[in-house]
Amino acid sequence: MNLFLIIILVILVGDYLLNLIVDTLNMRHLRTDLPEAFVGYYDGEKYRKSQEYLKETTRFGFICDSITTPLTIAFILLGGFNTVDHFARSFHLGTIPTGLIFAAVLMLLFQMISIPFSIYSTFVIEERYGFNKTTARTFVLDILRTWILTAVIGGVLFSGVLWFFEKAGPWAWVWCWMALTLFQILLLFVAPVVILPIFNKFVPLPEDELRAAIEGYAKTQNFKLKGVFAMDGSKRSTKSNAFFTGFGRFRRIVLFDTLIEKHTRDELVSILAHEMGHYKKRHILTSMAISIITSGLMFFILSLFINNRELFAAFRMDHISIYASLIFFGFLYSPIEMVLSVFGNMLSRRHEYEADAFAVDTCQKPQSMISALKKLSVDSLSNLTPHPLKVFLSYSHPPVLDRIEAIQKRQPRAGVSP
Ligand SMILES: [Zn+2]
Repeated sequence: MNLFLIIILVILVGDYLLNLIVDTLNMRHLRTDLPEAFVGYYDGEKYRKSQEYLKETTRFGFICDSITTPLTIAFILLGGFNTVDHFARSFHLGTIPTGLIFAAVLMLLFQMISIPFSIYSTFVIEERYGFNKTTARTFVLDILRTWILTAVIGGVLFSGVLWFFEKAGPWAWVWCWMALTLFQILLLFVAPVVILPIFNKFVPLPEDELRAAIEGYAKTQNFKLKGVFAMDGSKRSTKSNAFFTGFGRFRRIVLFDTLIEKHTRDELVSILAHEMGHYKKRHILTSMAISIITSGLMFFILSLFINNRELFAAFRMDHISIYASLIFFGFLYSPIEMVLSVFGNMLSRRHEYEADAFAVDTCQKPQSMISALKKLSVDSLSNLTPHPLKVFLSYSHPPVLDRIEAIQKRQPRAGVSP
């Protein structure tokens, strides 16, 4: 049997089993008694509901994986990729258009499988727990908008990578890397003004107390802002969030309307202070630098596997091509990606503690930060007692009780200045 085929099957099955084990441990780790910190935020009934929600989403994840993993394996073993390749080649176009057809057909097949799951998750599970606000119209429009964006952005990137690997010889990976990096930087500027408004409406916050408090705080931190905006997050879900977009003097703060509705002014300022902390502590730059380095690593490893005959034999292909190499490489790269993401999450969790500390030190209102965190986690029915292995592998934020504890420990130091 082909060595690459064995490796890929081990990766697919291994990933499936790992998820199954970690999520099972995570469900067994649930505690029925409400943690003391959350008394007054959860009642017994609602806490039970939050655990039901975790169980239901986890079980649903098992079902999805149990369908998609065998389907992927069957597709590989039955030569599905070869059939799609023959179809793409039947148009007798150049390599780049043929590659685009090949990728687009695979993407559509993937969508045909994932959309039903997404419908069930949005309109059955999220609906049952009172989160869903998405109408069928928004749901369909979102899919169409995502397809168009993917076709434009993905199409440009995919064609670029193909072009470099075809024309630029052994240093193609370096060109791809440079081009992707430039493209990512461009996106940072374009996304807030062109892409985000495709999905949501952004309205400047009215000149009220909240805006004055936010701008006042930003001023004390010497933080330049282009504006403070409210976003209609309530169009899709009751879950809430806040974030910054743009760079340098073009930075804008975005608050979900659902966030503004449920939090006090001090809590909102604390949440923003946390986000600003990510800038002040250079977390954004650090994450960008890491992502640039890892994409260079990825292109280098990719260049080693372009047009590898054994790899094509594993996928039962009749023809060798650069475009199919890119897709097949994705299967081999996934364990490396997983290891990188574990390290990425570790760093991200450390950054969250630092941003919390920044918010507490600069706002001098630790109780507001704590109550904001509590409200946010009650609101999204998030798991208060995740299994440590689950946290280690996939949590980008520390569990909320750990964050609260860290903030409480920090209090005395913050109490010194007025
Ligand atoms: Zn954060």
